[in-house]
Amino acid sequence: MSHFVSKLDDETLRHLVEALDESGQAVSIYDADDNLRYANKTYQSMFLEGYEGPFTFTEILRYGARNGVGVRIDGGDVEALIARTLPRRRSVPRKSFESDLLDGRWFWIDHTILPNGWLLTVAAHITSLKHNEKTLRQAHNAAVHASQTDLLTGLPNRRHILELLDEALAAGATSGSSLCVTMIDIDRFKNINDTHGHDAGDAVLRHFASVSREKLGTHGFIGRMGGEEFLVILPNTSLIDAARLIQQVRQECAGGVPWNGQAARSYSFSAGLVEAQPGDDRSTILNRADRALYTAKRQGRNRTKLGLRQENSADSAGA
Ligand code: GH3
Ligand code: MG
Ligand code: MG
Repeated sequence: MSHFVSKLDDETLRHLVEALDESGQAVSIYDADDNLRYANKTYQSMFLEGYEGPFTFTEILRYGARNGVGVRIDGGDVEALIARTLPRRRSVPRKSFESDLLDGRWFWIDHTILPNGWLLTVAAHITSLKHNEKTLRQAHNAAVHASQTDLLTGLPNRRHILELLDEALAAGATSGSSLCVTMIDIDRFKNINDTHGHDAGDAVLRHFASVSREKLGTHGFIGRMGGEEFLVILPNTSLIDAARLIQQVRQECAGGVPWNGQAARSYSFSAGLVEAQPGDDRSTILNRADRALYTAKRQGRNRTKLGLRQENSADSAGA
């Protein structure tokens, strides 16, 4: 049986070659000197449209580069591609890789080196798979972004800003440079909602988010912890500079948020500002910032309080 199917008479060979043409796969054989000995229809459409020869691997590549057909070359330098590719072309008996053409088609290419040094290439058309991959990647990125973003303000949400805090603490611990963190809570926010309606409250939250983002610029990040509470992270920033940035946000909020064509309404916030200490983690630093924020509220709101280092819990309980 195996003897029978491995016998290749002329008729079978002719059908095999026809079938390779119809299959849609691109098939070629190069001899040991890299002369092209056979290319089916699809392979010809990829590399040989209008080409008269000589039919060697390198000349075919050069023809493609001159005429804008064939493989897309990173950087556009065909001689660099040839220099890169030739030494590796027969380095392993089998290899597979994907490649895209200048006409936008993608192929998955199988190289097989025959015992006599000839090289068989079989390439499957995978453009639609690549499109699916791109669509999936875009959907994935959109989903990740949605899972990290607060819908109302467009700021990082609680989960994401806390992840950014972890990263900033780790980076600060490595670099040893000052990292400041500020917990912010808008003052008498319930009053704004009660007096002017929930939409007015929402407008204040959006205004605060955009003002903060603009004032912080590249100095740091702000995220929404929930309700009218926000967290600011300022890497490589001293306490004095951090306080100055928060002050700039405060002035802008005092200038007010315009809504419904009425005069701008002023609002304020309280802030607890702390600097990361060696050994701090997410919860220890947020604890200090929270306590400083609470002090700011107790002392009359519309102010920033510095949270000082807690030497140990017995001291603070006694204080
Ligand atoms: P304080 O100065 O002590 O912080 O007082 P406050 O009124 O700001 O604080 P409180 O915690 O009593 O009220 C917060 C209010 O924020 C209550 C809640 O209804 C409102 N709130 C929470 N999330 C949103 C939101 O997404 N939009 C609006 N408009 N209001 C919200
Ligand atoms: Mg609150
Ligand atoms: Mg509040």
